[in-house]
Amino acid sequence: MYCPFCAADETKVIDSRLVAEGNAVRRRRECQACGERYTTFETAELVMPRLIKRDGAREPFNDDKLKMSLAKALEKRPVSVDQMESLLNRIKHRLRSTGERELPSLRIGEAVMSELRHLDPVAYVRFASVYRDFQDVEAFTAEIQKLSMDEAE
Ligand SMILES: [Zn+2]
Repeated sequence: MYCPFCAADETKVIDSRLVAEGNAVRRRRECQACGERYTTFETAELVMPRLIKRDGAREPFNDDKLKMSLAKALEKRPVSVDQMESLLNRIKHRLRSTGERELPSLRIGEAVMSELRHLDPVAYVRFASVYRDFQDVEAFTAEIQKLSMDEAE
């Protein structure tokens, strides 16, 4: 992002907030070269944060990839295509709402899990077991217990 005042490309985001229903993000920026401050608006298409993978590599958010892992978790579950679509939208909304330009890819997994949890417990456990790569039985059992506690509420 180039500074509109001096064209330096060293600008810093000093504040990000969501505008109206999460469809745009307003960012206050400060030029590191001349110190001018200005505001940018970016629309939803542009605001899906890029992902930071475990090894530090960046990659663009991939809609299809997310859809595929959801479909896998929801396989043969009583969940309609519509429900899955709106699940996908809620997850994306959550990620956009952070206002961040880059997010650790772990955050996607967490967003998926907290949404799946409400929709379908079986899919949740399936997804969690793949995603968290449970190292031991204990962690897995703890997760199941958390689930049954929720149901008891
Ligand atoms: Zn400047």
